[in-house]
Amino acid sequence: MTYKITIDKEKCLGCGACTQCDNFEIKDGKAYAKKSEVEELGCNQEAVDICPADAIKVEKK
Ligand code: SF4
Repeated sequence: MTYKITIDKEKCLGCGACTQCDNFEIKDGKAYAKKSEVEELGCNQEAVDICPADAIKVEKK
């Protein structure tokens, strides 16, 4: 299974909570996914759950 990870830059507050998952980093005050497609969800699901702005979406491809 491949999952696509997208971040809504309009919603993102730049709070950094998602960087608990090492697939996320903050650049210029917004979150980026280092890998936008992953085979295993792993901590990406935790990032979705923890985001206070509901800015991270995970879709099955
Ligand atoms: S947790 Fe959500 S609002 Fe905070 S930096 Fe990450 S994507 Fe942006």
